[in-house]
Amino acid sequence: MQWPWVDPRNTSRTCPECGHVDAQNRDGEKFQCTSCQHIDHADRVGAWNVALRAGLVLPDVA
Ligand SMILES: [Zn+2]
Repeated sequence: MQWPWVDPRNTSRTCPECGHVDAQNRDGEKFQCTSCQHIDHADRVGAWNVALRAGLVLPDVA
């Protein structure tokens, strides 16, 4: 399967919880959102955001 091109530049800076993009969200391997304080592993956040942008996961925007 070919994945559509996904710009990886902000993938590890974008909060999977609230969508807030901030370089300060990432601190090495640790991700902590400066907006909603969501904490995760930076690599996991990056992978999640790549999947989101590729359309594999639909964001739950209520
Ligand atoms: Zn957040």
